[in-house]
Amino acid sequence: RTVLGIESSCDETAAALVTDGRVILAQRIASQDEAHRPYGGVVPEIAARAHAERLTPLIEATLSDAGMTLADVDAIAATAGPGLIGGVMVGLVTAKALAMASEKPLIAINHLEGHALSPRLGDASLTFPYLLLLVSGGHCQLLLVEGVGAYRRLATTIDDALGEAFDKTAKLLGLGYPGGPAVERLAREGDARKVALPRPLVGSKEPHFSFAGLKSAVMRAKQAMAAGADYTDADIAASFQRAAIDCLADRTRGALLSAGPVTALVVAGGVAANEAIRTALEALAAAHGLPFVAPPLRLCTDNAAMIAWAGVERLGQSDPLDTPARPRWPLDPQAEAVRGAGV
Ligand code: ATP
Ligand code: MG
Ligand code: FE
Repeated sequence: RTVLGIESSCDETAAALVTDGRVILAQRIASQDEAHRPYGGVVPEIAARAHAERLTPLIEATLSDAGMTLADVDAIAATAGPGLIGGVMVGLVTAKALAMASEKPLIAINHLEGHALSPRLGDASLTFPYLLLLVSGGHCQLLLVEGVGAYRRLATTIDDALGEAFDKTAKLLGLGYPGGPAVERLAREGDARKVALPRPLVGSKEPHFSFAGLKSAVMRAKQAMAAGADYTDADIAASFQRAAIDCLADRTRGALLSAGPVTALVVAGGVAANEAIRTALEALAAAHGLPFVAPPLRLCTDNAAMIAWAGVERLGQSDPLDTPARPRWPLDPQAEAVRGAGV
């Protein structure tokens, strides 16, 4: 069986066809990096317009790559949130129209669930429950993934997401948008011991993340450099990345100790494309006698294969055609209620 997946929650317009045998039959991603680059970040209005212009031809091209038509598809899965509402609406409305025209079921997917289940697309041996570090442009969470639709949030960021911190660091160092890969590249040429940066919440008894203080410290380091401090942009990038890794490793270690038995340590989301972060987490998993699972790089940042795969995991579900697009949609509503109360 085959699911058509559609993703449009941020600045990638994407479509993919994925089978229940874990085969990606076709996959297309139109990135809007060029359109947003002059602004140093995603402009929601520009993103929504670009999705609206590109999505339908992109879906047609994806079907044609696989030599298929809608008649060959068993369900249509689309991101229904969370994300920039204009883009989400474009993707969801398109999916509804296709579902209605083809009389195939619509499956509304939580974008974060797409990230959370994406490691299972490439690794058939990954079973529940696993500990997931979800690190992306908008989120930094530790989740116990107990099954499809069963997510228990153990930790979250109390301020910025890590991808956001990478992007801000990139902007400060004049590396442009999107920032994560550029910071990683520059960090390879730097010395991570050169710039003293904080590790917020490391060693703390509470399980959460915090990156705002690290971000401000990077800004002060850049100012100090301009005033004559003896280090380079590459040293700042390397020191920032090392501090971020120390935070991730410390918090993840704590979660491994408190989560109960798990089958694996898993990382997903755009920041999971970072090789240094993957290496550190792999060592952490090994130290706990656990397998380490990470999606291939191109399934870390936003894509439609992960949305189609979440659709495969949910085959049998059929969502009503008035399903709303949701700018906010927590994976673990219970934990979110607690967050509203102060965390
Ligand atoms: P969310 O999934 O939380 O809604 P998003 O969809 O915008 O947010 P993703 O596409 O999952 O985010 O991830 C994008 C983020 O990943 C960006 O902040 C980007 O800088 C970061 N990123 C991408 N590649 C790397 C890398 N190699 N190293 C560090 N960060 C990276
Ligand atoms: Mg993007
Ligand atoms: Fe994402």
